[in-house]
Amino acid sequence: MNPAPSRGHRGTGHALVLGAGIGGLCAARALSGFFERVTVVERDTFPETSDVRRGVPQGAHVHSLTPGGAQVLDEFFPGFTAELAAGGGTLAGALDELDIVFFGSRLRQVPLGRVLQVSRPFLEDRLRTRVLALPGVSLRSGLEATAPIATGPAGVSGVRLARPGEPDSVEAVDADLVVDAMGRAGRGAAWLTSLGYRAPSAARLHVDVAYASRRYQVTPGTLGPARGVLIGATQARPRGAVLTQQENDAWVLSLYGFGKDHHPPTAPERFLDFAADLLPADTRAALRTAEPITGISSFGYPAAVRRDFHRLRRLPEGLISIGDAVCSLNPIYGAGMTVAALEAKALRRCLHDGPAGLPRRFYRETARAVRLPWLFSTMADRSMPQVPGTHPALARLLATSFRATMRAAAEDARVATAVWNAVSLTGSPAELARPGVLAAVFRHR
Ligand SMILES: Cc1cc2nc3c(=O)[nH]c(=O)nc-3n(C[C@H](O)[C@H](O)[C@H](O)COP(=O)(O)OP(=O)(O)OC[C@H]3O[C@@H](n4cnc5c(N)ncnc54)[C@H](O)[C@@H]3O)c2cc1C
Repeated sequence: MNPAPSRGHRGTGHALVLGAGIGGLCAARALSGFFERVTVVERDTFPETSDVRRGVPQGAHVHSLTPGGAQVLDEFFPGFTAELAAGGGTLAGALDELDIVFFGSRLRQVPLGRVLQVSRPFLEDRLRTRVLALPGVSLRSGLEATAPIATGPAGVSGVRLARPGEPDSVEAVDADLVVDAMGRAGRGAAWLTSLGYRAPSAARLHVDVAYASRRYQVTPGTLGPARGVLIGATQARPRGAVLTQQENDAWVLSLYGFGKDHHPPTAPERFLDFAADLLPADTRAALRTAEPITGISSFGYPAAVRRDFHRLRRLPEGLISIGDAVCSLNPIYGAGMTVAALEAKALRRCLHDGPAGLPRRFYRETARAVRLPWLFSTMADRSMPQVPGTHPALARLLATSFRATMRAAAEDARVATAVWNAVSLTGSPAELARPGVLAAVFRHR
């Protein structure tokens, strides 16, 4: 086993990344070069084709990567976005080829760059290929991380792995750094308590959102000029629809609703009816005649969760959590993968500053990366009457201000740009509080 001082020394030691989702893959990229070996461990085995896999069932639903997220992936892997576009992905003009309606108003179509639209399995496959081409990085699939290994008070020095459903197959693997990228279930937090540390406090917002999605093969030109349609929920109609062109002329339609009464149906004969007051009749008619290439998948998302690791007084060396394991945002805002990528970028910055106290420094940075996306998305959630726990007066105030902002964003290019920068995580939601933007919102209220 490597002694503690070698942790994160340039080009030495072994890092173990648990989970090969977006968070895990980005973490592996961040770690490469700082450790001699980086092993990514994944419970799933990977399908030959770009199918949705068991460990990432959300992959059946729309998975837009914001331009902010694409920027990080391009920094990690130069030319990545262009490679996906050349491989069949859609590059849609933002905002001129996107039809976005938030809080009842259509976002003005100011030209603000391009957005990459691909399915989650397609994105993950290409990202995994790039990550595994990095020197020293390897993947062990079909193995589940079951428990941390601790040596003395210094912290974590490895993990037990087993083949799923085969407890006798346990092996112990040593590592100088273990990265929990196992998703929102929060294993890393539970591991802290098993090691005698406190679990991080968690902020939870019960949103009770459910998704239903289906992919279609669509003849080019049949769905109108927009390459992406996003109709957000409103307080009066807590349901939304996202229809986006992905790779190779496949389109995905994801429908969602807040609260049991508004959860979308999964029966094929009722699926498109749910979108009756969301999508225009000609779009629904075109989808009825398009060829479905998947069944209808559903996904229940009970609550957004943020784990405040940065508040813990004691943390073991050698173990960090990243991605949804730290913060899982309501998926309707499409920010989860971007936040995971930003956290990986923060991890790389922390590694540059050396190995001492890495978990604490890293969590301080992740708290910064998560703060505004969490605030922005939970404020929007709290404006929905279906989301419990917010005083009705505050919910009304939030709803009024979101509606007023969007009314202004329908007319005013500056407000539309600020809204887009907040949503796409290319800028900060704080841009919406700039005096010029606030004055425009006030004028259009
Ligand atoms: C319905 C839905 C729609 C979404 N839409 C969007 C969107 O449009 N845009 C966006 O940016 N985000 C979206 N998200 C959020 C996004 O999916 C997550 O934020 C992102 O996947 C987080 O990545 P992760 O690597 O942290 O976790 P995950 O992607 O969940 O990956 C976790 C990985 O860990 C593996 N694993 C779990 N346990 C173990 C174990 N014990 N041992 C080994 N491996 C293990 C799993 O198999 C999986 O591969 C959506 C989420 C949902 C639910």
